[in-house]
Amino acid sequence: MRTQTDMALREGALRLNLLLNSRTFYKFNSSVGVRSLSDNVLSKPVTSSAPEIVGDHIIYTQEHFALKESLRKIIDQEINPHVEQWEAEGIFPAHKVFKILGSAGFLGVNKPVEYGGLGLDYSYSVAVAEELGHIRCGGIPMAIGVQTDMTTPALARFGSAELKQEFLLPSIMGDKVACLGVSEVGAGSDVSSIMTKAVRKGDEYVINGGKMWTTNGTQADWICLLVNTSDGPPHRNKSLICVPMNLPGVQIARKIEKLGMWSSDTAEVFFDDVHVPCKNIIGQEGMGFTYQMLQFQEERLWAVANILTMMENVIQETIQYTRQRKIFNRPVLHHQSVHFRLAELQTEVELLRALLHSATALYIKGNDVTKLASMAKLKGGRLAREVGDSCLQFWGGMGFTSDVLVSRFYRDSRLMSIGGGADEVMLGIICKYMDTLPKK
Ligand SMILES: Cc1cc2nc3c(=O)[nH]c(=O)nc-3n(C[C@H](O)[C@H](O)[C@H](O)COP(=O)(O)OP(=O)(O)OC[C@H]3O[C@@H](n4cnc5c(N)ncnc54)[C@H](O)[C@@H]3O)c2cc1C
Repeated sequence: MRTQTDMALREGALRLNLLLNSRTFYKFNSSVGVRSLSDNVLSKPVTSSAPEIVGDHIIYTQEHFALKESLRKIIDQEINPHVEQWEAEGIFPAHKVFKILGSAGFLGVNKPVEYGGLGLDYSYSVAVAEELGHIRCGGIPMAIGVQTDMTTPALARFGSAELKQEFLLPSIMGDKVACLGVSEVGAGSDVSSIMTKAVRKGDEYVINGGKMWTTNGTQADWICLLVNTSDGPPHRNKSLICVPMNLPGVQIARKIEKLGMWSSDTAEVFFDDVHVPCKNIIGQEGMGFTYQMLQFQEERLWAVANILTMMENVIQETIQYTRQRKIFNRPVLHHQSVHFRLAELQTEVELLRALLHSATALYIKGNDVTKLASMAKLKGGRLAREVGDSCLQFWGGMGFTSDVLVSRFYRDSRLMSIGGGADEVMLGIICKYMDTLPKK
């Protein structure tokens, strides 16, 4: 008898095949493939209030919607039923979940086909990130985003064929779990001040140091590690190296307890005389800082896309709750301060979505969107705090319990203003682009 997982995998693979075929149809042949796909998409109710109108969307085509729909089934069948348990356990089974997503093609939508990816443009990754926002916690989407958009972009772009075969392909297929080692005990916002060192000895690097707050760190198979490979200037002395986590000298010092993102494991990792072949370096030695800054662009767009859906879901659930909850003989929602505030928040969500989609449209045409991605990340963090706080308030005592999505969102989304570059770091980048940052 076929299990639900088998069926989801089979269906995911079939849908993605259809998607890729229809893409060719769309561009070069008839509209038959597109029509059958769009009929299928249109027959499903659109649950969010987003402007997800097939044919009229700024960046999404029928194929994006088909991709989202296919992913939603996996989320509903394979992930959401287990979220409560994984949140309580403080970890989710990354290998199991990634295998399901990888087999269906969702861990490499914009990655090269020769390494298992779907070879689609970055707008498809944004669509996937948005859909992952339907997972009923922040920790699991974040862990998936670390795998797809935070540890692998530089490897896919600058890594050697051999390195991509060893680390990228299995990460896209869901056979290996990846993590990113940038932050350290003494260096988070100021990436240039990291201390972890890789000293070249023959055809190996010997690594010493430690990384902090490493998402997926307790269960990862490899780490994309930012290290100093020389004593040169801080922006030109760094390299990114793929390091297997089972090498002698790699120690998971501890799993860090956190305010939110409970189902995502966060580790402190030490490197004690870890020997890694020099061929494990991504691209050129000394270019790691630049590669990491480029990698951050995708990380930030991804994070905004993901949190947009979560904000929208929290607003929608707040509307539902306040519509049926009565105070002073009328629904909470009917008090003007409540429905006006929700309208204001939804307006801000739409503004952020417009910024994200225009940044994405520019990015897929090859433009540098650092400024727009930083603005979106800044606004995403601030808006998430407002949405979490205002909506939780409207739930009253219920909002303070662990039984509802809003309280988890309130805890989880706080990270958005800190992780992957704090709000102030985003402001600094925006100021640089505005040429308003005082010169040192
Ligand atoms: C749950 C979680 C998961 C994470 N996952 C990863 C991961 O997988 N890999 C990884 O490498 N890192 C990860 N991080 C680390 C994260 O990216 C850092 O926490 C973040 O970059 C901030 O660095 P910091 O904590 O050292 O804060 P600090 O650098 O000490 O900054 C403290 C505060 O100073 C303020 N500040 C910063 N810059 C300025 C400025 N220019 N002007 C004024 N004020 C400023 C900000 O408010 C900031 O929050 C994770 C963190 C958390 C909490």
